[in-house]
Amino acid sequence: MNWVNFREIRTRIPIERVLTEYYKLDNLKVSGTVATGPCPVHGGNNPRGFHVDLEKNLWHCFTGCKRGGNQLDLVAAKDNVPIRDAALRLQRFFLGDDDGAPAATSPEFPPPTRRDPPAAAATASTDNAPKKKEKVNPPLDLMLQLLPDHPHILEDRKLSQATAEHFGVGYCARGILAGCIGFPVHNEDGQLVAYAGRRLKFSDAEDLGKYRFPKGFHKDRVLYNLHRALPESSDALVLVEGFFSVLKLHEAGIKNVAAVMGSDLSDHQALLAARAASVVVLFDGDEAGRHGADVAVQKLAPLVPVRAVKLANGWEPEDCSPEMLHWLLHGVQEFELTTVSLEAARAAHPTAGA
Ligand SMILES: [Zn+2]
Repeated sequence: MNWVNFREIRTRIPIERVLTEYYKLDNLKVSGTVATGPCPVHGGNNPRGFHVDLEKNLWHCFTGCKRGGNQLDLVAAKDNVPIRDAALRLQRFFLGDDDGAPAATSPEFPPPTRRDPPAAAATASTDNAPKKKEKVNPPLDLMLQLLPDHPHILEDRKLSQATAEHFGVGYCARGILAGCIGFPVHNEDGQLVAYAGRRLKFSDAEDLGKYRFPKGFHKDRVLYNLHRALPESSDALVLVEGFFSVLKLHEAGIKNVAAVMGSDLSDHQALLAARAASVVVLFDGDEAGRHGADVAVQKLAPLVPVRAVKLANGWEPEDCSPEMLHWLLHGVQEFELTTVSLEAARAAHPTAGA
C-alpha cells in the first residue's frame, strides 16, 4: 500500500497551487486571501460561482454542484476519485514521492501559516464518503418565547408589532437572554442557528456591550437576515451594521437588507454577500462605521459590484426617513452625505437619486 499522509499534504500544498499548478486554472480572480471564478468542479460559467479562501485552504461552489471543502475534497470532487486517491495524486504531483518516506522538506513549500484541526485528515479513509467536519453554527432545535409588543420595540424603536412578528423578534423574560430583546439568527439556508440579545439595561450595555451572542457562535460566518434578503436579489443587497437597522429598512419597504452584526465584515461574510447581484454598504455615521465601510468595500469590490453610502456624523440608517433611504439607495453613487435633510442633499447632489 502506498504511504500517504493527509495532514502533510494539506499543510504543505496550498489550495492555490492545486488550482494553478495541478489544474492550471487561469480564470480565477484573486483579491487578498479570496479567489473567485467559474466552478471547475461542475464546469460552471458564473464568474462568481466558485469561491476559495486561500488562507484557510477552503473552497465552495455557490452555483451548480454546491460542493466544498479542502484541497483533498477539491481533487476528489473534480477528478471523481476517493479522498485517498486524491491525496496520492497531489502527493505524486507536488512531493514527487509516493512509495515510502515523506519527501524532503523543500524551501519551495513554505511552512503552513495555520494548522487545521486534524479531524478531517485523520478520519479520511479509502471509502467514498469521508466524515464531515463538525459544522460551524449547527442548527438549533429550541425556540425562545419572545414578546413582540415590548415598549422598547414599539415606543423606543418606533417599530410596528407586525414587523417584530415578521422577524420573530421580542422581549425575553426568562433564561439566558432574560431582560434582552431577542433576535433569531438564521444561516443563509434559513436554518435557525442562534438567538442574539440586545441588552436593555444601560449599565449592562455599557459594561458588557450592547449585544450578547451565545458561546461558540461564530457571527463572522453569518449575515443576519440574508436568507430573507437574497430572494429579493434583483435589487442590490443592502448591508447594515445592526439588527434594528434591518427591521427599520424592512418597514421602509427595503426588504433586501442584511446585517453584519457589527462593523467588521469578515471574509466569509463577504463571500455570502457576493451571492447578491450587487451590494450597497450602509453603515453608521461614526468612526467605526466609516472605517468598517471602507474595509467592506475593499473586500467586496473584487467579488461583486459594490458602493457605499456614508451617513453624516452621528446618524444611523434608522434615523433616515423612508423617503431618504430610497433616495440614498437608488441611483446615488458613492458620496459623503453631510446632511440628512433630503432637500439639502438633493441640492448638493442634483444628479443623484431616482
Ligand atoms: Zn460547482
